[in-house]
Amino acid sequence: MATVQELRDKLRRPLERELLTGCQNRVVAGGVEKLLENLARPFPNVREMLRGYADMNLPTREEKLREALALLTEGGAAKKAASVSPTKSVTIEVGGKLPPSLEVAKLDLGPGGAKKLHALGLRTLRDVLHHYPRRHEDRRALPNLEEVEEGQKLTVAGVVVSKSRRTPKPGMLILEAVLLDEWNNRVRCSWFGQPWVERQLREGARLVVTGRVKKFGRSVQLGVEYFESEDDVKDSLSIGRIVGVYDAKEGTSQAFLRKVAHKVLTETDLSDYLPITTRQKVGLTDLPDALAGMHFPTDEFHLARALERLRFDEYLFLELRMLLQGEDGVLLGKRISATNEDIATFEASLPFRFTNAQRRVLLEIADDMRGERQMARLVQGDVGSGKTAVAACALYLATRDSYQGALMAPTEILARQHFASLTTYLYPLGVRVGLLIGAMTAKQKADVVKALETGELDVVVGTQALIQEGVSFHNLGLAVVDEEHRFGVQQRRKLLQDRPDVLVMSATPIPRSLALTAYGDLELSIIDELPPGRTPIETKLLQDTQRRAAYGFVMSQVREGRQAYVVTALIEENEKLELLAATQLYDNLRELLPEARVTLLHGKMSATEKDDVMARFRAHEFDVLVSTTVIEVGVDVPNATVMVIENAERFGLSQLHQLRGRVGRGSHKSYCVLVAGEHSKKTRQRLKVIENSTDGFVIAEADLKLRGPGELRGTRQSGIPDLKLGDIVSDVEIIERARDLAKTILKSDPTLSHPRLTALREELSQRASQVAYREVI
Ligand code: ADP
Ligand code: MG
Repeated sequence: MATVQELRDKLRRPLERELLTGCQNRVVAGGVEKLLENLARPFPNVREMLRGYADMNLPTREEKLREALALLTEGGAAKKAASVSPTKSVTIEVGGKLPPSLEVAKLDLGPGGAKKLHALGLRTLRDVLHHYPRRHEDRRALPNLEEVEEGQKLTVAGVVVSKSRRTPKPGMLILEAVLLDEWNNRVRCSWFGQPWVERQLREGARLVVTGRVKKFGRSVQLGVEYFESEDDVKDSLSIGRIVGVYDAKEGTSQAFLRKVAHKVLTETDLSDYLPITTRQKVGLTDLPDALAGMHFPTDEFHLARALERLRFDEYLFLELRMLLQGEDGVLLGKRISATNEDIATFEASLPFRFTNAQRRVLLEIADDMRGERQMARLVQGDVGSGKTAVAACALYLATRDSYQGALMAPTEILARQHFASLTTYLYPLGVRVGLLIGAMTAKQKADVVKALETGELDVVVGTQALIQEGVSFHNLGLAVVDEEHRFGVQQRRKLLQDRPDVLVMSATPIPRSLALTAYGDLELSIIDELPPGRTPIETKLLQDTQRRAAYGFVMSQVREGRQAYVVTALIEENEKLELLAATQLYDNLRELLPEARVTLLHGKMSATEKDDVMARFRAHEFDVLVSTTVIEVGVDVPNATVMVIENAERFGLSQLHQLRGRVGRGSHKSYCVLVAGEHSKKTRQRLKVIENSTDGFVIAEADLKLRGPGELRGTRQSGIPDLKLGDIVSDVEIIERARDLAKTILKSDPTLSHPRLTALREELSQRASQVAYREVI
C-alpha cells in the first residue's frame, strides 16, 4: 500500500513537468485530465482545481497548476496563499537591486517610455535584458577609407556638410548628403526613395550611417541601409564603442532602447540561475557579464563570451524542456495498416519508379504509421528530390485505412501547387482531394469544411486555414506539413495535438544531430538522391556591368517560348526599400525587354493578388515574373527555364540554392544567372560555390564555412521559438555540451526541486511560458 506521500509525489511530478514545459497539456497521453482520472482519486480538491484544463488558456493553466501543486506540497493548504506565482510578487529589493520580474512600468522611463517597451512585447526588466540586439556594429573607430572594399558594409560617423536631392525619373527620389568625419574624410551617402529622411539631413546634423560601399576612384560612396541621427549620436552609448542595434518599432529610437537596457542592466539583480560550480564545469562566464557583454560589450572578446553563454543557455533550456517532456512522452497516434501492396499500387500508378532513396524513406514512414506511437517524422531532401511524391503515397496509405489526410503549406501559392500535384497523384486512385485557403469565398470554404467533417473528402490541402477554428475532421489520420525553407513550429504543434501521424517535409539540409535537437521529437528521414535524368541547371555568375547580356539571354529564352523569374534581394530591416527595389527593377525590365510580357509580384500584395499573378504566370500570360523573395517558398512552373537573381551577394547560399530550384522542373534545359551588384573577393568566392555545385548538402556546408560570424543568424530561418541567438546549423558543439549538462542535471534531480536549482527552475518555466505563448500566437 502506497503512502499518501508517495501518491502525492506520483501526481506531483508529472504536474511539475507540465508546468516546466509551458503548460502544453502534453506530458502524458490524453493530457492532464487523463492523468487526474488515474492518479488524483485521493485528492479531490486537486481534481476540482484542474477540471477543464484542456480548455483553459495558458496563463490560467499556469495559475491553476501552481495552486494545485501548492496543495500537493506538504502542508499544502497552509502554503496556498504564498503559491500564487512568486515571480509576480514584485518590489522585493535584493541587496538594493530590483528584481527581474519587476514591471517596466514601475521604472521612471519618461513619458510613454513603458508604452514603447510594451509595444515591443517587453513587460518586465527580465524581458528588457533578454531583448538582445539583433546585430552589433563596430563604431570604435572609422576604418581607413583608402582600404575599404567595394561592397563592404561600413559605418561612418560625421557631420552633414552638404545635401542635395535628385529625381532622375518621376517617382524616383534620391537624397544625398556629404558627411565629414573627424579626420576630415568626406563620404557621400545616398538614400533611395525615402522622402522622410530629408528632414533629418540638415547641414550640421551629426549622423551615424551604415551602408554598402561603392568606390569611384578614391572617393567612397555609401548606399545607406540604416542610420541614426543627432540625438542618438550625442549619446556615449551609441558611439565610440561596439554598439548593439535592436529590433525596434517606428517612433522608438535605438538611443532610447540602449538607455533603457543600460539602466536595467545596472539596476537589476542579475544573480545567476546556473549554480557557480556547474557554470565553471562548462567553462562559461556568469550571467551579469554575459548580459552586459550582449548589450554593451567592451570589446569583441566580451561579446563573444556573452554570446557563448547566452546561446548555451538557450540550448540548455531547450534540452531541459525536451527531456522533461519526453520522459512519459510516448504519445499514442493512429495505427494505420499501410500495407506493402498499397505502396505497390501507388507506385504502379506513377509515370516513374521511385528512387531507392524515396523507397527507403517510404518504408520508414510506413513502419511508423503502422505503429501505435504517433508518428513524428521529418523528411528532408533537396528541392526536386521527390518529397511531395513520397508524401502523396503516405496520404494514400492513410486513406486506404479510411483515415483522412491533410497537407499544410506555408503559403497559398504553394498550397495551390500541392493541390494540383496531389490531385494528379491521387485522383486516379479514387481519392477525393480538396483545397482550403483564405482566398476562397466563404461559401466555398464552408463546403470544404463540411465535407471534411462528414468524411466526404479524403485529403485536404491548405494553408494555416486548416488549423483555424471551425475545421474539424471526420477522422484525421495523417498530417503532412510542408515547411520547405520556412519552418512553422507553431502550426506543427497545433496539428500534433489532434494526434494524427505527422510528416514534416523540409528542403533545408541540416546535419542529423542538429535536426534531432531542433525538432526534439522528430525522427529524420533523408532523401539523398535526385530522380534520374535531370539535366543539371547551368549556373552563371555575372557582374552587374553584364546585366545587358543577362537579359539578352532571358530574351532569347522567351523567344523560344520559355519563361523566366527575376528575383531581387530582400533588403534587411526595410520593407519599403525592398518594394521600391522590386518596382524599379520591374520598370527597368519593361524598358530592357520591350517584347516580353513582364509582371511583378511582391510581399505587399494581398494573397489574392499574389495568387492571381502566379496563376496567370503559370498560364503563360506573362513571360517574365519580377519578384521579391516571396517566391522563395516554391512554385512549380515547368515552362520556366531561367532564374535571374539580382543582388545575388545579399542572399545566403542555401537561399540561392532554393531559388535556383524553382527552375529545371520541366523537360527543357534550365539556367540560373546570378547578378552580383558588387564583387569583393569574399563575395565572389561564396557565389562561386553556387556556380560550381548543385548539391544542397555541399552548399549548406560551404555556407557555414564562408559566412562570417554574426552575419545572418540562422534562427530567423529556423523558426524555433526557443532560440533567439542560437544557430542550429553552426552550433553543433555548443548543443552537445548543453545537452550533456541538461542530462546531468536531470539525472541527479529529475524535477529540479533542490533549492540550489530554484532559480534555474524559475527561469525554465519563464522561458517555457514565453515559448508557448509565441507558439500560440
Ligand atoms: P520535392 O517535393 O522534393 O521538391 P517533388 O516530389 O515535387 O519534389 O518532385 C519533383 C518533380 O520530380 C515532380 O515533377 C515529380 O513528379 C518528379 N519526380 C518525383 N519522384 C520521381 C522519380 N522517382 N522519378 C522521376 N521523377 C520523379
Ligand atoms: Mg516540394
